[in-house]
Amino acid sequence: MSGLYVHVPFCLQKCAYCAFYSVPLADVHGGGPVEDYFEGLAAEIRLRQQDTPFGVSSLFIGGGTPTALAPEGLERLLKMLVFSFEDIEATSEANPGTITPEKLRILREYGINRISLGAQSFSDRLLKEIGRIHNAEAIREAVRLIRLEGFNNLNLDLMFGLPGQDRKTWQESVEEALRLGPEHLSLYALSLEAGTPLATRYSPGQGKTFSHLPHLPDDDEQADMYQWAVECLVRAGYSHYEVSNFALPGKECRHNLEIWRGKDYLGLGPGAVSTLGGVRWKNAEDLAVYGQRLRNGELPLMEVEHLSERERMTERLLLGLRLSAGVSLEEFKQEFGQDLRDIYRDVLETYLQQKLLSIEENRLRLNPRYIFTANAILQAFL
Ligand code: SF4
Repeated sequence: MSGLYVHVPFCLQKCAYCAFYSVPLADVHGGGPVEDYFEGLAAEIRLRQQDTPFGVSSLFIGGGTPTALAPEGLERLLKMLVFSFEDIEATSEANPGTITPEKLRILREYGINRISLGAQSFSDRLLKEIGRIHNAEAIREAVRLIRLEGFNNLNLDLMFGLPGQDRKTWQESVEEALRLGPEHLSLYALSLEAGTPLATRYSPGQGKTFSHLPHLPDDDEQADMYQWAVECLVRAGYSHYEVSNFALPGKECRHNLEIWRGKDYLGLGPGAVSTLGGVRWKNAEDLAVYGQRLRNGELPLMEVEHLSERERMTERLLLGLRLSAGVSLEEFKQEFGQDLRDIYRDVLETYLQQKLLSIEENRLRLNPRYIFTANAILQAFL
C-alpha cells in the first residue's frame, strides 16, 4: 500500500514566488493542453496499473490548482481515479479564487474528504504583492462553502517572510486563520526560487537597490515570526507534529506522514515524483513531452535515480527528524538491519553533546528549539 499523488498542472495565473510546474490557464487558448493532460493521465494510469500492482493508502491531488479545472474537468479527473480511493484520506488542494459550490459538491461526491486551501495571508496588500488571484474575503468565503459542503478536515497554508510583511501582519493572519477553525495548518517560509518573478525582483545586480521595494524579512525576522506562530498554535491546541505542520488531535496529514516515514508513493501527471522500491523518478515537467511519450506507449520519465542503501538510510533520518516524534531506533534497525548510532556515530556524538539532538525512549529527536534551522543542522548527515 502506498500514497498516490496526482499533479494537476494548471493555475489561473502564476503566483510571483511559485516554482511548481503549472501552466497558467490565462495562456491556454482553446482546450488543447487540458485535453492533452487528460489523455496523458488516462494512459499513465493504464500503464501503471499494468506494471505496478498498486494498493492506495492515501490520495493527494495537488498542483498547480486542481480547482482551476472547470467542473466537468474536475469530474473527469475524479472519475479516472475513483478506482483507488474508498475509506482513505483523500485530499485535494484548492485555491480560494477558484472554489465554487458546484466544484466542492463534485469533490465530495467522488470521495475527497480533506481540502488543503492555499490561503497564504489575510492581508490584501500582501496577497497582491505575491500575485495571488484572491483576497482575504475570498478565503473566508471559500472556508464557509467548504464547511457548508460538509468537509470536516481542512488545512490552511500560510506563508511568512513575505515582502512587506512584519510581525504584526503575520500575527493578524495567523489569528484570523485560527478564527476559521481549520483542523490543520501548514506554515511555510517564503523561499526565493530562481527564475520566479519575485526572485528576479530581489536578486542582487550591479548598481541595483531595493529601497523602492517592500522590505524582505531576513532570516532572524522569519525565525521570530515562526517562533511566535508555533507558540500561538500550540496554545490553541494544535500539535506541532512536523517542522511546518500543525494539527488538531487525529488530524495530521496521513499522506505526508507516510512520506516522512519513508513509505513508497506513486506520483502521476507531468512533473510528479515517485519513490517505489528504492527507485525514484520524476515525470517530464512539460505537458507536450508528457503527452507525446504516453501517446507512444512509454512512461513519461525524466529523471530516474536508484537509491543506494546509504542514501535511503540518510533520507529516512532527515525526513524522520522533521517530525516531532523523531526516528525510532528500533524501526530503523528493523528496516536496514543496522543501528543508526553506529552509522552516524561522529555526527551524532557532536549533536547529542551540543543538545541539538536527543535520544529518549529509544527515539532520536531534534531539539524543538532548533527546529526552524533544522535544514542547516541536518545537512551534516549528508
Ligand atoms: S496557485 Fe499554487 S501552484 Fe499555482 S502558481 Fe500559485 S502557488 Fe503555484
